Amino acid sequence: EKIPIPVPFGAGFEGERVRKEDMYVQFGSKYSDAFEILQMKGMDEVKDGDIEVIGPTIADMKEGEAYPLGIVVEVAGRNFQEDFESVVERRIHEYISCANGIFHMGQRSIIWARISKAAKEKGFKVKDFGEILVAKMHNDFSTIIDRVQVKLYTDAEKIKAPLEEALAAYHDRDDRIGGMTDEDVEDFYSCTLCQSYAPDHVCIVTPQRLGLCGAYTWLDCKASHQIDAHGPNEPVKKGEVIDADKGQWKNINDYVALKSNGNLQRFNAYSMMEDPMTSCGCFECITAIVPEANGVMIVDRDHQGMTPVGMKFSTLAGQIGGGIQTPGFVGMGKLYISSAKFISADGGIKRVVWMPKALKEEVGERVKAYLAKIGEESLWDKIATEDDATAPDELVAYLQKVEHPALTMEAMF
Ligand code: SF4
Ligand code: ZN
Repeated sequence: EKIPIPVPFGAGFEGERVRKEDMYVQFGSKYSDAFEILQMKGMDEVKDGDIEVIGPTIADMKEGEAYPLGIVVEVAGRNFQEDFESVVERRIHEYISCANGIFHMGQRSIIWARISKAAKEKGFKVKDFGEILVAKMHNDFSTIIDRVQVKLYTDAEKIKAPLEEALAAYHDRDDRIGGMTDEDVEDFYSCTLCQSYAPDHVCIVTPQRLGLCGAYTWLDCKASHQIDAHGPNEPVKKGEVIDADKGQWKNINDYVALKSNGNLQRFNAYSMMEDPMTSCGCFECITAIVPEANGVMIVDRDHQGMTPVGMKFSTLAGQIGGGIQTPGFVGMGKLYISSAKFISADGGIKRVVWMPKALKEEVGERVKAYLAKIGEESLWDKIATEDDATAPDELVAYLQKVEHPALTMEAMF
């Protein structure tokens, strides 16, 4: 396929990294604001192929620096539905990654991208992110998308309003799944989109547990299957129950065994201690056992500091990623924290002893609503943050002071 950009393009470049010393500029991660979103518009609101850069272009950027990047893709199509937005949006990562000399990681508002010096020398520009997206979306989604336009925000001030809008849109999408439970459905959905990075990884997405990237709920997977029945998301019948509490079903096991190339024989949807789901690499956060506290901590990608398990997020991510099962450690989407099925086989939300302050704030509204529902409101203030403790002994002292329930729960292992 022909993508009108000055660097080679293809699946072979997908996992390519751009090291710091080879980088011309970067966007997002801890360095600057960055996000990506795809939204449906009316036919007359989209000028097909239009790409606008709002802010500095590559010619204005200094080598080695970080700049904001807001990628807003607007699409229109007679067969397009609002439900398809998140499905097509999740492909942005793959598309941009396929350009030689361009690195892209993450989704929604946790993206990180780099343009290498070599790509810049060949003439790659910020506008080319748009060229890639316009071409690929026409190519892969021609049945639902008729027109595509892209706005790229690189100005630190001008990105603020669209970023706020995007955050509100992600929140609304997460709400759509509402009160649906795993028992309400016959089928879960698979997601194998991350197999290009982690060849044995399969996400099993249920109404109460979204994909670990946080960008695919059960409804999104359903919409994706509707768009392309041979795509990365398939309905998988639960079938015979092996263990209702741990969340294990025969058909799901068989499916996972097949799709993990035989590397995974069993999988518990609701346990992180016994046969947990595998973790690819794009998890929004990691839940890890804190043995001293008889509980778990949750750390998200944005948190740069030390955690009570003695590792920072980046170290933890390196150890548990790649599509393997690591009992005691699991990657997950933030929305799963407020689910009634959150590690329910291991004791659920009452096991949570530590979270970074910013994450606590972000998930607070949903988690507090869930705690109120189960009559455990008092738990919220007992969950420590980096202000209370960063080392295990400090954490235990804090938990004793506030009488955290994890200390008197059944032993975790
Ligand atoms: Fe799909 Fe899971 Fe990857 Fe998200 S993390 S894109 S749900 S395989
Ligand atoms: Zn992934």
